[in-house]
Amino acid sequence: MYFTSEPEHISMLRDTIGRFAEKELTDDKLRAWDKACEVPLDVFHRLAETGICGITIDEEYGGSGRDLVAAVAIIDELARHGGAALAGPFIHCAFYGGMNISENGSERQKKELLPKLAAGEILMAYGLSEPNVGGDLAAVETIATLSDDKSTVIINGTKRWCTGARFADYMICLVRSGAADAKYKNLSMAIVPLDTPGIEIFDLDHIGLRYAKTTDVVLTNVEIPVENILGGFSSWNRGWDMLASEALDVEKLEITGVALGIAAAAVDNAWEYAQQRNQFGRLISAHQSIRHDLVEAKTKLQACRHMLYHAAHLAQNRVSCSVETSMAKLFVGDTALEIVLKCQQVMGAYGCSSEYAMERHVRDIMVMPIVGGSSKMQKNNIAARLRLPG
Ligand SMILES: Cc1cc2nc3c(=O)[nH]c(=O)nc-3n(C[C@H](O)[C@H](O)[C@H](O)COP(=O)(O)OP(=O)(O)OC[C@H]3O[C@@H](n4cnc5c(N)ncnc54)[C@H](O)[C@@H]3O)c2cc1C
Repeated sequence: MYFTSEPEHISMLRDTIGRFAEKELTDDKLRAWDKACEVPLDVFHRLAETGICGITIDEEYGGSGRDLVAAVAIIDELARHGGAALAGPFIHCAFYGGMNISENGSERQKKELLPKLAAGEILMAYGLSEPNVGGDLAAVETIATLSDDKSTVIINGTKRWCTGARFADYMICLVRSGAADAKYKNLSMAIVPLDTPGIEIFDLDHIGLRYAKTTDVVLTNVEIPVENILGGFSSWNRGWDMLASEALDVEKLEITGVALGIAAAAVDNAWEYAQQRNQFGRLISAHQSIRHDLVEAKTKLQACRHMLYHAAHLAQNRVSCSVETSMAKLFVGDTALEIVLKCQQVMGAYGCSSEYAMERHVRDIMVMPIVGGSSKMQKNNIAARLRLPG
């Protein structure tokens, strides 16, 4: 944990991203991508050339060494400059892929997939949610059965809200692989290539995080090699342990990083706007209520930053941090929403115009207390972990 300045390598990463964003993430492009609900992948590939995708991957597999504080800083900085436009694909690569395979993959999966992930060549989507399954993930209804000779796995079911399934190469899919009565036991994670026969993808229309379409992925007799069980066949029915392990703690951090970055962008925008807009014969930044709004937003943002980086520091040092990561997700998700809405009010009608980024910040931040485990689910988790009798 650092209380003075950031380590130099993280400041350098922020500078690199800032320079990249200046060229590649202009307001016009961000507006067009948001409207189309699609970011051209070549932009992500140019970002990957800076080498940042290896930040969650050990050097022996082509990465730069696991550095979760730096990884969160990359997300925060990308989101500050472009919302989810590139923070999203980076997460699909470095976290859904790099972090997940590093922590839970078999040796074979690590050797095959990690070098490609470190180079930003492949992307993963997450298939956890289903039409009847939201926060209660262990209730999944997508069924995986072994073939008679145990060489393949056959999957049937529908995964919902699969962001990026159209651009990803693989979907990491939570499946029920045994009797449903043993709710948390008979679950597995499967690495499903998205071009496997039997997969159909349907777009969902939604507000927020429009860097890619969020989709339904319907799997009908989708057959994958048994080696594609995350962790290999020895991990059959061990999916919940993987999901509820460190990977889940880290997932809370990556979404929180996006929330922090978007809130920071909103504060930047409102701060600047207040120094340009004149009403009642003076800049609105001279009106006391606006000054107070802006200062409160900055102060809350600072608190969010401390919560997030403290939790990231614990996760990096493999200190048990389920409570701290849930607290960060809860506090930053809810507070970032407050900050952005306040900043929108500072900009008055212009905060509602698509001519300004603020309107996109509002739509993006709305989903933050919902995705990746809702605020209420985080409260449940914190109360349970702190053994509050219920
Ligand atoms: C833009 C977007 C992108 C997404 N991307 C993905 C993705 O890529 N992959 C993926 O798998 N999922 C994705 N999701 C799904 C997301 O993770 C879920 O929406 C989230 O987990 C919540 O599930 P739910 O919406 O079904 O809510 P539900 O679980 O149905 O909950 C509804 C409400 O009830 C509350 N609630 C539920 N249970 C409890 C309880 N026990 N105690 C107190 N309150 C409770 C919740 O907090 C919420 O307020 C995405 C969602 C969106 C909107």
